[in-house]
Amino acid sequence: MERLQGIAVSPGVAIGEVLVLDNEGFRIPRRFLPRDAVEDELERLHQAIAAATAEIERHRVRVSEQLGKDSAAIFSAHIQMLNDRSLRHKLEEMIRQRHYSPEYSVSRALRHYAKVIQSLDGDYMPERATDIFDIEKRLLRHLFGKRREELAHINAEVLVLAHTLTPSETSNLNPKYVKGFVTEIGGAGSHTAIVAEALGIPAVVGIGPFLTNVSGGETAIIDGYQGLVILHPDEETIARYRHEVVQYRSHAAKLEKLRDLPGETADKVRIQLLGNIEFPYEVEQCQKRGADGIGLYRTEFLFLSRDTEPTEEEQTAAYTAVATALRGQPVVMRTIDLGADKMPGMPRPDDEANPFLGLRSIRLALKNPEMFRTQLRAILRASTAGNISIMFPLISTLLELKHAKMVLREAREDLEEEGTPFDKDIKVGMMVEVPSAVLMLDHFAEEVDFFSIGTNDLIQYALAVDRSNKDVAGLYTGSDPSVLRLINMAIQVAKKHEVPISMCGQMSGNPLYTMLLLGLGLRSLSVTPAALPEIKQVCRRVDITSCERVAHRALELESARDVKTYLKEELAKFLPELPV
Ligand code: PEP
Ligand code: MG
Repeated sequence: MERLQGIAVSPGVAIGEVLVLDNEGFRIPRRFLPRDAVEDELERLHQAIAAATAEIERHRVRVSEQLGKDSAAIFSAHIQMLNDRSLRHKLEEMIRQRHYSPEYSVSRALRHYAKVIQSLDGDYMPERATDIFDIEKRLLRHLFGKRREELAHINAEVLVLAHTLTPSETSNLNPKYVKGFVTEIGGAGSHTAIVAEALGIPAVVGIGPFLTNVSGGETAIIDGYQGLVILHPDEETIARYRHEVVQYRSHAAKLEKLRDLPGETADKVRIQLLGNIEFPYEVEQCQKRGADGIGLYRTEFLFLSRDTEPTEEEQTAAYTAVATALRGQPVVMRTIDLGADKMPGMPRPDDEANPFLGLRSIRLALKNPEMFRTQLRAILRASTAGNISIMFPLISTLLELKHAKMVLREAREDLEEEGTPFDKDIKVGMMVEVPSAVLMLDHFAEEVDFFSIGTNDLIQYALAVDRSNKDVAGLYTGSDPSVLRLINMAIQVAKKHEVPISMCGQMSGNPLYTMLLLGLGLRSLSVTPAALPEIKQVCRRVDITSCERVAHRALELESARDVKTYLKEELAKFLPELPV
């Protein structure tokens, strides 16, 4: 039996057979194919070349439209290289004659070409070699991608163990069969972790290297409460965990009874409890748990679970479906928050050393005005179907907000001219997730109808800790006094300017912080659907005077550890049965 400690990101326990995905990093072993696999593997190679060609062609068209034909010439050269007859012949020969895997053949053949070119004289030779490495990477991504695509087609119950899973891979997992997952890298704030919660499957990330100790088909336990993974568990441990699963179910059944009771404190102060969703089907999960609406719809997941950009019609249909299903309850549609760890098949800037500080979120939307405008038109068109608001993510300067509002204004004018109906009184808000926005909130208050604090990013930018890096995960915590001060400042300024403020980062769904947040003045929380019953339970047990006392004291503490210990003690006074 081997116990491995990681970071708990999605609660629950899963026991079962493992599926190991260990193809990260393009470390290509020299794998020989069985004779009868040759034809299938040749087909896989041809499909990868075709898919890579189509991808480059899409980039060529986009760049050519935006920057002109000359800038797009490099893509034509790549397409030519990729489809070079002698290259294809060489690859086929390696697979057919020497029985190498397509991955190994691609890597070996292209690296050989690159080496020959590097050894030639001429100013432009190093660039040509870089182009060849680029083609190699792209082809490998498609070859591996094909294999990883199989993730979506798993049809037996498994626990997935992987070096890493991207948010879009995670969103394609079918929770009916994938009962939990574990990754070697990743942190609590990563979007992969957030999607795991949305799927409602236990997950542990940031274990460190362990995949070499386990083979497919072996048994493991994922403990999503403690962040533990147990490989080759003994009978006694399995029995203990089975008992825990039963207990958890009975706890969840008790909480279900809260569904129709109002979200309010023991002294009858109303607390609005909303759900965070990534996919339209989660509306139902929120309703089943008695949510007052949706406080954050991460619309970018519509872009992530596919290869091409969704059209205006497709987006309008998805947003309309969400608004209609809510039957008048509010939904805050956050505009595309792509980039950093959420990247669809668009060209990725190759000089992004710090993707979380780079072209992400509203910045990426403003750089792709057509994509942005299309989304805004779709949201506006859907707004006649229900109670929709628009929210811009990652606003860091006033100018940026004004720019985003201008694109929205243009979209509104276009629809008006066309005679397309939309809700003329639609509310426009922004996320408060960058410290600069907190500091300038009085100015932002003049420009928006509401604020929502995004603690997932606010923590990483306040503390300079990458939210998805396991090596600094110990520093990534909402308990840090600096984070409490920023949240407090934001709430006070919003109150002073009478602009409604809510919170939608993961902190709002953690019962440890509920008393603190109510005490600081929040009356609206948007949380992961699975956390709704527990947060409602805390709200209904506590009173505002106690919460204010807790908030006041917590703001005086010096360290994250002190804050955490204090909040645990206080919560235990009201809910001794709650494990936090
Ligand atoms: C946040 O940053 O807190 C947030 C809600 O947005 P996301 O997690 O999607 O970055
Ligand atoms: Mg964010």
